[in-house]
Amino acid sequence: ATDLTVQELALELKLPETEVIKTLFIKGIAANINQTLDIETAEMVAQELGYEVETVEEESMARKVTEMIDVEDLENLQRRPPVVTIMGHVDHGKTTLLDSIRETKVAQGEAGGITQHIGAYHVDLTHNDEVQQVVFLDTPGHEAFTAMRARGTRVTDIAILVVAADDGVRPQTVEAISHARAAKVPIIVAINKIDKEGAQLDRVRQELTEYELVAEDWGGETIMVPVSALKGENLDALLEMVLLVAEVEDLHANPNRPAKGTVIEAHLDKARGPVASFLIQNGTLKVGDTLVAGSVLGKVRAMIDDRGERVQQAGPSFAVEVLGLSDVPAAGDEFEVFGDDKSARSVANDRSDQQRQTRLQQAMASRRVSLNAFS
Ligand code: GDP
Ligand code: MG
Repeated sequence: ATDLTVQELALELKLPETEVIKTLFIKGIAANINQTLDIETAEMVAQELGYEVETVEEESMARKVTEMIDVEDLENLQRRPPVVTIMGHVDHGKTTLLDSIRETKVAQGEAGGITQHIGAYHVDLTHNDEVQQVVFLDTPGHEAFTAMRARGTRVTDIAILVVAADDGVRPQTVEAISHARAAKVPIIVAINKIDKEGAQLDRVRQELTEYELVAEDWGGETIMVPVSALKGENLDALLEMVLLVAEVEDLHANPNRPAKGTVIEAHLDKARGPVASFLIQNGTLKVGDTLVAGSVLGKVRAMIDDRGERVQQAGPSFAVEVLGLSDVPAAGDEFEVFGDDKSARSVANDRSDQQRQTRLQQAMASRRVSLNAFS
């Protein structure tokens, strides 16, 4: 948190400057509107005026570094790639966009060819002569966000909202906007299908203003990029904007600690047993690590990346398929690596007790409801 002037504080509190000056005066501090106040004084004034104080530093920290980051990590934070989710109304071109980004980028890279479905993939982009990575989640945006909302976690850093230029804003477009807003995830709009006969870019821009998404060239702050996912047109501009927003978001994690993150997909494979895709949100996951995912215990036997390659370790923002779990966790569950098997086991037991308890309560609650219905 930094110092602020009387005027800025009044603005922040949505009160007249005179109120702030009066409060300071009562406390024995003579001030004018341009006077600089240190953070303690500003907090004191806000409290006197009946506000609950949450300093700006805490607030922006919570936004930038998800709840996956602990206080101990703060000294070891390093830049991490952004995790991007593509959202929008059905048939507006989400899958096509994802596919053409992957095709162009994977085809350009040396490790082209077979890709593995792990619920996410990594794309290398060159930006200012530097290779930067972006991770795209390919779980349907809505599912990812609904799971996140239910658990209060945040797995994505940026949302690309796809709106078809020949169809405009539709119900799921609006839903996507509200999901992204609730999760405080910045939105980049991709106005898609610009190659089509009936494409009306300005109509889309106009409709989006009703949801407080105003294009930059219309005096607003929302980045909107016209693209054709099908023809691969203007995708570089879109990706450039993703990197720009990522830079502003200033995303960090501590790679030098045991891993922690979210299960993005999980299923039972006949040959390989339980298989789960993990998005690593902090730390580094290694083969041999003991972990708990939801209430499931596991020891990482193997990890496979989105190119189908076996990897020995994976760092922040990366997604990998993990083998070696004792059961199938649920998508949206959090996972965490533990230093020794004993503490992992005890955490897993506690969690399954908790889950059993919740299920019992839910069952009882539903019985109460059905009994009420008959009375
Ligand atoms: P999703 O439901 O949002 O995943 O939409 P899809 O990616 O499945 O696309 C729906 C339909 O729109 C498909 O037939 C695509 O080929 C078509 N489509 C997607 N993007 C474009 C585009 O940029 N231009 C044109 N002309 N068609 C597109
Ligand atoms: Mg699709």
